Formats: sequence, C-alpha cells, structure tokens
Amino acid sequence: MAKTSDLMSRIEEKRDDLIALTQELIRIPTLNPPGENYREICEYLRARLEARGFTCQMIRAEGTPGDSDRYPRWNIVARTDGARPGDCVHFNSHTDVVEVGAGWTEDPFGGALKDGKIYGRGACDMKGGLAASIIAAEAFLECHPDFAGSIEISGTADEETGGYGGVAYLAEHGHYANVQHVIIPEPLQKDRICLGHRGVWWAEIETRGEIAHGSMPFLGDCAVRHMGAVIAEMEASLFPALSRKKTAMPVVPVGARSSTLNINSLHGGQAEPQPDFTGLPSACVPDHAKMIIDRRYLMEETKAEVEGEVRAVLDKVAAERETFRYDLNEIWSIEPTMAPKDAPVVTSVAQAIGDVLGREAEYVVSPGTYDQKHIDRIGKLDNCIAYGPGLLELAHKPDEYVGVDDMLDSAKVMALVLVDLLDPA
Ligand SMILES: [Zn+2]
Repeated sequence: MAKTSDLMSRIEEKRDDLIALTQELIRIPTLNPPGENYREICEYLRARLEARGFTCQMIRAEGTPGDSDRYPRWNIVARTDGARPGDCVHFNSHTDVVEVGAGWTEDPFGGALKDGKIYGRGACDMKGGLAASIIAAEAFLECHPDFAGSIEISGTADEETGGYGGVAYLAEHGHYANVQHVIIPEPLQKDRICLGHRGVWWAEIETRGEIAHGSMPFLGDCAVRHMGAVIAEMEASLFPALSRKKTAMPVVPVGARSSTLNINSLHGGQAEPQPDFTGLPSACVPDHAKMIIDRRYLMEETKAEVEGEVRAVLDKVAAERETFRYDLNEIWSIEPTMAPKDAPVVTSVAQAIGDVLGREAEYVVSPGTYDQKHIDRIGKLDNCIAYGPGLLELAHKPDEYVGVDDMLDSAKVMALVLVDLLDPA
C-alpha cells in the first residue's frame, strides 16, 4: 500500500514534466496526410526513452501506402526489460494528427497551457495519451525497478489513414508475437475502457446507361435515374432494416448501437466544371453514376450478410428496370473487434480505474475503427483495449485540448496496471 502511494505521488511530482512533454509532442507537426515529421517525432521519443534505459528500434514501413523518400513512414518501438521473466505490456500511440481545419483561436502547434488544458492539434488525439503512458512507465520503473517482464512503448504512423504504415506493418513483421497486453491511449475518457470497434465495409456501386443527346433522352439510358431508383429502394427497405438491427456491443454514442450506412459520395454525368469555367454544360444523357457507401456493421453480422443486403437491393431494382446494369465492388473492409470483458488487460484497467477514480469503469465500443483492428486480426492478440485521457468529441475539432488532470489520472491508472501485471505484491 505504501508502495502504491509512493507511485501515485511520484506521478503527481511529474506534473510539469508531463505538461512539457505533451507540449513538445504537439509542437512537432506530424500532419497526415501527407505524413510530415515522423522521423523527427520518433527521434524525439528515442532521445527521451533511451535516457530512461529503453532500447529503441526505429522502423520505416517501406513500401506501404504513402511511404516515400519525401514522406517516409517512421515508427519507433521502445522496450525495457525487468529483472525477471514475465509478460510484456505494450502501449501503442499513433504519432500522426489530422489537418488543422478552420476555426481555431489557439495556435494549433503552439501547445498553449491555459486553465489546466493544453491546446493543439493532436492534444487529445493522441499526444496527451502518449505522454501519459510515458510518464506512467517512467514512474513505475523508478518505484518498481525489480519488476518481472517488459514494457514497450510504440509511436506509430498513419493511424488516421488506416494504419498500414504503422501498427499493421509492425503486426505483419511479428512485433506483437511476444506481447501479452496492449493499451492504446486513444482519447476515450479516463474512466472508460474501450473494448473494440464496429466493422467497416466500404463499397462502390456503379450504374451504367447510354449516352445520347439531352433533347432526346429516350434515345439514351440515364444512369442517374437508375441510381435514383437504387436510393429509393434503400430508403424503402434497407435503411429501415438497418436501424432495426441492434447490437449487444456497448457502442457510444448510443445512436451507433445499430447498423449504419452512410452515402459517402454520389457522382453522375458530366464532371463538375472548373471554377473558372464560365460556359454552359453540354446536353448529354449520363451514361454512368457512381456511389460510395460506408457501412458500419456489428459483431452480430457477417461481412457476407452485409454485402448480400446491398446486392439484394440492386437485384430488386434490376428486376423492376429493364435496362438496369450495375457493378458492386468492395473498396475496404475491417471486421468488428471486441476484447472479452474478462481479458486480463480489461480486468486490470477496470480495477485501477476504481482505485484511482473511486468509481466503476464504463465499458464502451467505438463506432469507428482504430489500430486495435491490426493488433487483433494481424497480431492475433485480443487482449487489447483503448484507454486514455481526453474527450473523443474533441478529436479532429478546432481548439482541440487535453486536460492536465485527466492525463495525470490516466497515467496513475496505467501505472497501477503495470504494477498489477508486472509486479504484483
Ligand atoms: Zn487517434
């Protein structure tokens, strides 16, 4: 018990260090796309962690989407081994941030500290979480030098664009083969454990017709009208059916506890003219139209069912419209993933949240995906969760921030998890 309070006060004493670390991470603008300054942020992390006894591997995900000599996909894996054999606890944070966007009143790469909040692009998503995990590990190492097992901290590229130059690459190259527990400090809130995420199925629907003069449309076949029939059938049958499908997954927000489909884009006929073009369109019947759909699916569904439902809509329209022809192609898919509630990392974090915050952990599932997919599917490790400081609603927004107290609290939770998993009394 005395040891626990030592560890907790050790983290309190690191408050200024935590603030400075978070600010310095924010000040390295790791915008993705295109994937800037990955090398710089990995070098920064290497200098910090090597000084604390970690051994660091710098790994470039060569040949992955977006990797080039101008924008190399650099990742870092830092590891420290204890005095005795045991499990490996791995903290994974992505180092990339999304574009700044409009509407900021703070410098997005300034890292200003105001009223206990640190502002900047990536403050909550997720440089604050990365900083909290580093402080947690450093405090644990100081208080428990003779622990069993290993601690790893990784900083990885490209989470915001699919993670193929980051965690997927590490998983494909066996970096999770000797890891037993993974915590991803995404901004899910300090009292919530994110068990996983829904599945994704992106597809492209194309309808085809025949070009003709627009004054005699009966001589052609309008692909946009065909697509209109597809949307009408989706409205009549598919959307109501999807909203009736409910999941046992504790997805937040609650609206995402059913199947959803977003029409991501729709294009038909002539391309939009350039802004400086002042002429008129030519009179043509569109011979093609294209729709991209973003379907999010549940543990209770399979990808085959999800695809089958869309194909059923298209086949029904085909039965009703004589000249209707379509193509349906998958663009991207990710299966749903959810750690079991009795997985060791889940029970350990739940216990630590109770100890630090004096309340029960809430279990949630993310509506969208994050790097857990690669650790589960490629790395074959389902003992993996997201847990970290910050509010998910602030991610990707103007004036993004992370609260210093929230970071300290989640650093305490992470440090207690290390005690539980690597040096229990
Ligand atoms: Zn993130």
